[in-house]
Amino acid sequence: MITRTPPPVGTTTLRSSTPPGSLPPSSPSPSNVTVIGHPLVQHKLTLLRQKERSTSSFRTLLSEISMLLVYEVTRDLPLVYQEIETPLAPMRAPLIDGKKVVLLNILRAGTGMVEGMLRILPSARVGQIGLYRDPKTLGAIEYYYKVPGEMSDRDVIIVDPMLATGNSAVAAVERVKTAAPRSIKFVCILASPEGLGNLRDTHPDVQVFTAAIDERLDEHGYIVPGLGDAGDRLFGTK
Ligand code: URA
Repeated sequence: MITRTPPPVGTTTLRSSTPPGSLPPSSPSPSNVTVIGHPLVQHKLTLLRQKERSTSSFRTLLSEISMLLVYEVTRDLPLVYQEIETPLAPMRAPLIDGKKVVLLNILRAGTGMVEGMLRILPSARVGQIGLYRDPKTLGAIEYYYKVPGEMSDRDVIIVDPMLATGNSAVAAVERVKTAAPRSIKFVCILASPEGLGNLRDTHPDVQVFTAAIDERLDEHGYIVPGLGDAGDRLFGTK
């Protein structure tokens, strides 16, 4: 069924015209969360959620949404001006300042987002952090970590499609903070209120970008309504 009435507050999507009580599109809330309400993002997110979506289509959509998200996430990168010559005239033209951005991939599902973001930021460096969820405590346990050098001059964008309990995000931020980067942002496709609260309470300085905030977590730590297991859907492992 198709309707023009937006879902009630707390459910899955945002419209480009703001329904009463929900966040306006692409606007920072007081808690450092930006919901990217762009219609292209919202449309593709709906397709991504559908359970009948093929692995191939899921990959493509995840990559496309990530491209659109990184456009917003990098909006405030500082610029420097350089003298260049066009075929017609010299001019002072803007370039992104500083060392290359680092995309920090939370393995394994972040891989699908990194791939899309690299199409917009082809020179970005890519770090990896491997974390698994302890099935009993749902706590994050690190098994791998590798980032580029000279981190103190770099902006870091941590990527994971699902901000669920927030434990992986908190662990990834904690780890990367030991390298004292210039800035840290966290980008996901879906966030739970619990995960956002956890990340905000432990790292209020980290800006979070998401395509939607869903209703809740279930007893297994999955986001509801969500999109299922992002890693399994991305890699076709279920
Ligand atoms: N990880 C997922 O892949 N999906 C969820 O809903 C929560 C965590």
